[in-house]
Amino acid sequence: MSDCLFCKIIAGEIPSKKVYEDEKVYAFEDIKPAAPTHVLIIPKRHFAGLDKAGPEDAEIIGYCNLIAAKLGRERNIEDGYRTVLNVGPRSGQSVFHLHLHLVGGRDLSWPPG
Ligand code: 5GP
Ligand code: ZN
Repeated sequence: MSDCLFCKIIAGEIPSKKVYEDEKVYAFEDIKPAAPTHVLIIPKRHFAGLDKAGPEDAEIIGYCNLIAAKLGRERNIEDGYRTVLNVGPRSGQSVFHLHLHLVGGRDLSWPPG
């Protein structure tokens, strides 16, 4: 999608700190990290968010979580991390290309704000 920030990041039109890439997903450091590890994992195929997902998106949503688990293992933060999908403006979603936050490397409070 031509006017989507994260599609531009995938295309390399906007620079990012890549941490992982394969044919299905791209993962990069969040520009404003909320924790020592704060990575965004995004499907290469654009769709706006979980609220806009259909059955055809089930596999990629699961796959993003598995990539988060792999990164969590590699970064040695398996004593506590979180994967988060913000959905809708009241959740704080500000970019409407689905992205899974991987947040960890510090104590995480519950419930989230
Ligand atoms: P949301 O609030 O939509 O769930 O998450 C969007 C995330 O994207 C935020 O954590 C924000 O810091 C991050 N972000 C926004 N613009 C950029 C950017 O240009 N580069 C990177 N690396 N992260 C961004
Ligand atoms: Zn996009």
